[in-house]
Amino acid sequence: MSEHVSESEEDERITITHGAGGQATRDLVSETLTEGFGEAAEALVGLHDWDDGAVLPVGDENLVVTTDTHVVQPPFFPGGDIGRLAISGTVNDLAVMGATEVKGLTSAVVIEANYPRENLERIAESMAETCREASALVVSGDTKVMGNGELDGVTINTAGVGIAEHVTPDSGLAPNDVVLVTGAIGEHGISLLAEREGIDFEAELESDVQPLNDLLASALDAASESVTAMKDPTRTGLAGSLNEMARKSDVGIEITDERVPVTEDVTGAGELLGLDPYQIANEGVAILGVEPTAAESVLKTLRDHPKGANAAAIGKAIDDHRGRVVLDTGIGNRYLREPSKEAVPRIC
Ligand code: MG
Repeated sequence: MSEHVSESEEDERITITHGAGGQATRDLVSETLTEGFGEAAEALVGLHDWDDGAVLPVGDENLVVTTDTHVVQPPFFPGGDIGRLAISGTVNDLAVMGATEVKGLTSAVVIEANYPRENLERIAESMAETCREASALVVSGDTKVMGNGELDGVTINTAGVGIAEHVTPDSGLAPNDVVLVTGAIGEHGISLLAEREGIDFEAELESDVQPLNDLLASALDAASESVTAMKDPTRTGLAGSLNEMARKSDVGIEITDERVPVTEDVTGAGELLGLDPYQIANEGVAILGVEPTAAESVLKTLRDHPKGANAAAIGKAIDDHRGRVVLDTGIGNRYLREPSKEAVPRIC
């Protein structure tokens, strides 16, 4: 096939922005990849809900199913690697749907010919270690090799299944629900970009990549029915995820800037790199919506857990500004918008 394309044909090519997880991704996927599919008749949460996973009733139980492909560049980065990311990403997508106990994971690995065997061993070891941390097992898998130059190193798809006793969809927020985050934001995206650009900050920047199912299980144990919504703010950052939750729940969300946990190192590096921590990927943080009566006890439970020491109540769902996120900056209010393009491609 000729590489030459006319300008009009060029318009029809996929761009990096289509992978950013924002409006361009939604348009492309809804017009192509999901258009031909109906909705599973009994799905509580299905394909067209665009949530972290699907929820399908099986007997009396809610089966949660999710899948994610990992293309992070570089595959080894401060605080983690593509193996830890692949396991954590899928475990967390299950957990934020309410399935904190993993029934099983699958792992499909595509490797470029000539790839160092030593790297593959490191990745596999990291996957196994992260599985132990998450009390999860890979129960099925697939391995393919593509020609040299046909792929950039290694790509991993992981899928997972679990059972949710109480489903926590993006759309579950109601006015007055308190919005919590489980930790400081922006660490994965900022540290990855600093590594990729070869910028040596004095600050210790490390990805937050980690499985959160143990932390979220403790929150659900503390107040199961009172946790109304959960989401992991990955590709589009806290800003993108809060906008999605506001839109799907048909509420506004009001956030107070000074309550949002961000380390000074991330803020400083973000300023130098021109990146807003609100719009940068996290891989070890979750957002929770909690009914006001239970918010304090859930927050305390999170903070008592080693993975939730920096958890904070950052705002609440409100009745107006539906579908939007209002940020109180301390000197005034402004809308917090989702990123229109990917600040950092190949981040997860
Ligand atoms: Mg997710």
